Amino acid sequence: MKKHNFYAGPSILSQQVINNTIDAIRDFAGTGLSVLEISHRSKEFTAVIEEAKQLFIELLDIPEGYDVLFLGGGASTQFCMVPYNLLKTKAAYVDSGTWANKAIKEAKLFGEVDVVASSKADNYVWYPKDFTVPTDVDYLHLTTNNTIFGTELRRDLDVPVRMVADMSSDIFSRPVDVSKYDLIYGGAQKNLAPAGVNFVIVKKDALGKVDRAIPTMLNYQTHVDKGSMFNTPPVLPIYTALETLRWYKELGGVKRLKELDEEKAACLYDAIDNSRMFVGTTHVEDRSIMNVCFVMKPEYKELEKDFVEFATARGIMGIKGHRSVGGFRASLYNALPLESVKFLVQAMHDFENK
Ligand SMILES: *Cc1c(COP(=O)(O)O)cnc(C)c1O
Repeated sequence: MKKHNFYAGPSILSQQVINNTIDAIRDFAGTGLSVLEISHRSKEFTAVIEEAKQLFIELLDIPEGYDVLFLGGGASTQFCMVPYNLLKTKAAYVDSGTWANKAIKEAKLFGEVDVVASSKADNYVWYPKDFTVPTDVDYLHLTTNNTIFGTELRRDLDVPVRMVADMSSDIFSRPVDVSKYDLIYGGAQKNLAPAGVNFVIVKKDALGKVDRAIPTMLNYQTHVDKGSMFNTPPVLPIYTALETLRWYKELGGVKRLKELDEEKAACLYDAIDNSRMFVGTTHVEDRSIMNVCFVMKPEYKELEKDFVEFATARGIMGIKGHRSVGGFRASLYNALPLESVKFLVQAMHDFENK
């Protein structure tokens, strides 16, 4: 039975990307060795990391003066690396969900944190807006897509300070004006590669401004100086990331990915909005095109478990909602085909008519 993969992360990768990774596991770049067993400093692997970096620059139109790093430790390590390296006295954070909250917790270890807006009181069903950012902060931190609650900020704000953004779950879903950010980071396991690698896009002259001593591995400058090769980088996830980036370029880049993603999201939201049984959980103007959260209307609430079983029996995987929202979450990452969204919509109709 064909499976339709709606997992939130780790999540779907393109079949072409998986096949090319399998080939490289068998025989990498004609070396007769597996990508699993070669030196990260071999010329073949150095070429991989260089091409991946160049494709980041090309696909996201990253201006001069920035570097792209591939680091271990998950996006969660970035929650502490960002303030370690960039927070001198005070930073502004927007509390838009669970991940934003975790980033705030780490930043507080390094200085004053001004939480300029929060939607926590409403269980994060909308994205904070119309907030004022003080001009005396070192940066404003945003989580552009709230993977758990299904809200998203799909534009680059105009604020009087530099921005830092966690784009773990919506990178490569729209063009980004990188010049407004000092740093953009994310875990790769949502829209790029298997778990194990982070991407960090950093403005080089934003570094070196704090007085504190920074441990070598947690200092961005170390990795800028060594081209992500200070220590052994996560070789296999970086290889798969390269295959995904090549595929993104083939498809037509982020403008095209944005169209495809918006079409998929519209298809599912349309079905939810016109449904007798299902209802969305977030404010319409803030809803995410990557993670669609929905529940059963109160009168059908007890059928939620049945629908998950009904869907799973048809090969629809990973739609159970996160425990902090309940109901369902369908993640529509770049590698998910529109056909899978249509298949889910059909299953929702069939379930309603049953
Ligand atoms: C998944 C996720 C994280 C956490 O990533 P890890 O790699 O597990 O540390 C952080 N931020 C966002 C927005 C996420 O979706």
